[in-house]
Amino acid sequence: MYSKIEKITLDGFSFFLKRDDMLGLINGNKARKLYYYMKNKACFKPQTRFISYGSAQSNALLALSYFTLQNDFKLLFVTPKLSSFLKQNPHGNFKTALDNQALIIENESQLSLRQKALSLCQKDDIFIPEGVACKEACFGFEKLAQEIKEQGKELQCDFDIFLSSGTGTSAAFLAQYLACKVFTCACVGDERYLKEQILELEPKFDFSNLHILHTDTKFHFAKPHKELLDIYHKALKQCGVEFDLIYDSVGLLCVLKHKTLFNKPLLFIHQGGISANESMLRRYAYKGLESKDATL
Ligand SMILES: *Cc1c(COP(=O)(O)O)cnc(C)c1O
Repeated sequence: MYSKIEKITLDGFSFFLKRDDMLGLINGNKARKLYYYMKNKACFKPQTRFISYGSAQSNALLALSYFTLQNDFKLLFVTPKLSSFLKQNPHGNFKTALDNQALIIENESQLSLRQKALSLCQKDDIFIPEGVACKEACFGFEKLAQEIKEQGKELQCDFDIFLSSGTGTSAAFLAQYLACKVFTCACVGDERYLKEQILELEPKFDFSNLHILHTDTKFHFAKPHKELLDIYHKALKQCGVEFDLIYDSVGLLCVLKHKTLFNKPLLFIHQGGISANESMLRRYAYKGLESKDATL
């Protein structure tokens, strides 16, 4: 697992970009998070059941479905009740996961998604928390930190680093393995919620080199918003790079807003997940913010 670093300029601001979106079918931070399982796959018997839960369009579902398909394992994935539209018109990550033989289980019980997923677990099954926010994820970020150190030496560059956060697993583990400043922003909930999530994963986490930048709270998680669509198109046009509309687009706006905070050349980690754009662009088109053609 190794990705290159490029230099790009967006709205006059130049920064380095780590192309983790180019790691392969399983890419972005989900590839880093699953690194431990990929490296140790020989330890699991064929047909081992991996059990997880979350949104039916999530990047975690997609990555887990490729991982289990490629290695002759099984994926059971608990989601909230599906809309009849999605059932009749499977698309995006949901469709790919079905094609990859994931068993998607709608939660029709009174249990939370997590409880429902846990209730399915039997001996030898592997339980993966939502968003692959587990301790095992740390190994992939140790590897990412190593890559960044080596590439920094080659480029004779000491970086400030930025990566967007959902659960904060990626940012927290990366900060843990690097001495340099790591910046992030919360894409799910606010800064306090992000801190809580990180402390749930690592109760003694040391925040001294992880800086949570403030973002506009109007970006409700995974909801269409014109400013996000605009920065998405700008990045495509000015840099020739596609970013995901849920996390990295929020991150790009945050970086541009706070660009004077960075003392060193910025390294932005592209976290992949652009396959989720298909379903997001449909929602933008439905809201009349995006032309229908763009989603074809
Ligand atoms: C899952 C995901 C995130 C969130 O990662 P965390 O480790 O949960 O903070 C960010 N960006 C993309 C593209 C993702 O798929």
